[in-house]
Amino acid sequence: MKKRVAIIGATGSVGSAGVEVVKANSDIFETLLLTAHSNEKGLLKAKEILNAKHTILTSKENSHNDIINIINDEQIDIVLFAAAGVSCVKLVYDIVHNGTHIALANKESIVTAGKLIIEEAKNKGVKILPVDSEHSAIFQCLMGQRKQYVSKITLTASGGPFRYRPGDAFEYINISEALKHPNWLMGSKITIDSATMINKGLELIEARYLFDMEPDKLDVIIHPESIVHSYITFTDGSTIAQMGKPDMKTPIAVALGYPERICSLVEPVDMFTQKSLTFLKPDLEKFKCLKIAMDVLQKDSNALMTAMNAANEESVKSFLKGSIAFQDIPYVIEDVLAKADITDAQNILEAEENIIKYQKFAAEIISKQ
Ligand code: NDP
Ligand code: MG
Repeated sequence: MKKRVAIIGATGSVGSAGVEVVKANSDIFETLLLTAHSNEKGLLKAKEILNAKHTILTSKENSHNDIINIINDEQIDIVLFAAAGVSCVKLVYDIVHNGTHIALANKESIVTAGKLIIEEAKNKGVKILPVDSEHSAIFQCLMGQRKQYVSKITLTASGGPFRYRPGDAFEYINISEALKHPNWLMGSKITIDSATMINKGLELIEARYLFDMEPDKLDVIIHPESIVHSYITFTDGSTIAQMGKPDMKTPIAVALGYPERICSLVEPVDMFTQKSLTFLKPDLEKFKCLKIAMDVLQKDSNALMTAMNAANEESVKSFLKGSIAFQDIPYVIEDVLAKADITDAQNILEAEENIIKYQKFAAEIISKQ
């Protein structure tokens, strides 16, 4: 029996890498469903490559229910969830609620509703397999280990395009510079998140929920080569790291193939060519968004995480439209956090209401800039 797969967001950067991995393993996988938001042409191309049975455009009415119905009717085994943004949180939750395993790239849903999604996954016996490269690294380093012996999880960060730029030059950063990531080719939202380094803050929160880890055991280090994708330090002083080329096809293959190792189409790192690996402390004065996210993580408030994530998404959209400057992003987030209620959402509908509330707060603040 082949594994029955769906890819949500098949036209994006992660989604199209997923299409390549599934295609390379067509003896193992059968594709039942592919979705895109509005890119119909890209969706049809992916359908052709994978000979997929169903396609859905999520910008169309009733797509949410159609996706869940197809997942049920076609008895899909695993969903690669590669759509971007927090507007997908309910769909992630409903797939988990439905009892379907999920290879999850969409970090915004975990940052916003991690507690609810993980609880539901436990109730339903659903596996959430991380696709974010750092979390895939931690997932791999934890294999065969006991959590009680973990003393620290360190997420590596490339540092983005501005790792060597002085903080006082941040006011001159323009959109095209911020969209040029030195190591990874990604969608525009996450590329800006990497430039502000809030991406690493979102990932700390993602790790907090995915691995049920205490906030004070989570840390970040800058590693410009993006070869070590993260590492764990154990109580006996051992450190276990996962290494690989910076290519999302590896973590996608790990998640879709689990517990088997399948073809990822990625060559291993050649240590003789690589020669050296470097590590630096992040500058939290310069990367204010990372500092904000680290503070929110330590407060361990899901409500604040939701507010921060919603404010960040609105700020990134506005920056990409040219309505705010790069260095305004942390100030919009701080203003929204100052107005945020600290009561956590009790269910996914409340979480969705909170997202909309904080998106509105952010939009108001931005309109006054
Ligand atoms: P892209 O912008 O490249 O792709 C987004 C995909 O989601 C597209 O298929 C798009 O469809 C679809 N989409 C857009 N809006 C919606 C919506 N409202 N509802 C449903 N689907 C939608 O993003 P990335 O591939 O870069 O990122 C996807 C997710 O993976 C993000 O959450 C990101 O944080 C995470 N991630 C990405 C990494 C990367 O290397 N890119 C690494 C780790 C995590 P259409 O083409 O029709 O617009
Ligand atoms: Mg990542």
